[in-house]
Amino acid sequence: MEKEFNTFKNVIRLPHKYAAGPTYTKFYNGLKESKILGTRCPSCAVTFVPARSFCPKCMKNLDTWVEVAQEGEVQTWTYAGKDFFGIPGKAPVVIVLVKLDGTEGSFLHLIGGINLESADTVKKALRKGTRVKAVWNEEKKGHMLDIKYFAPLSKKR
Ligand SMILES: [Zn+2]
Repeated sequence: MEKEFNTFKNVIRLPHKYAAGPTYTKFYNGLKESKILGTRCPSCAVTFVPARSFCPKCMKNLDTWVEVAQEGEVQTWTYAGKDFFGIPGKAPVVIVLVKLDGTEGSFLHLIGGINLESADTVKKALRKGTRVKAVWNEEKKGHMLDIKYFAPLSKKR
């Protein structure tokens, strides 16, 4: 016989603020100016974006700032057809990891400018390696969503 448990459905919200710190503050201020900033490790010859305060490969502090490309390649993506807690905007959304040109990669953002009706319509426009470009919001707040989304440059299949 299966044991029964009393359960109660609930939603816990935890509003909070956190200090962005000097590295993320500089990164977000760059977004206000339509610039994507990264930090470069001269020892490892690697550029990280969003900017990091230290190199995770050699652990050296990073203070070499560079403006990185606003174009890159899709590393992977996922389709969210239903709203969920923390979703940026309203479903459907496509969440993407982009390797901006000349960087280490894994820049997490959204895809737009294509038909988001279903995962199948997205598959027609997007795959690993698809070239994408940042599309900016007109109003900037020093926030990751100052970049409205990344849009495919062309339909390559
Ligand atoms: Zn390094």
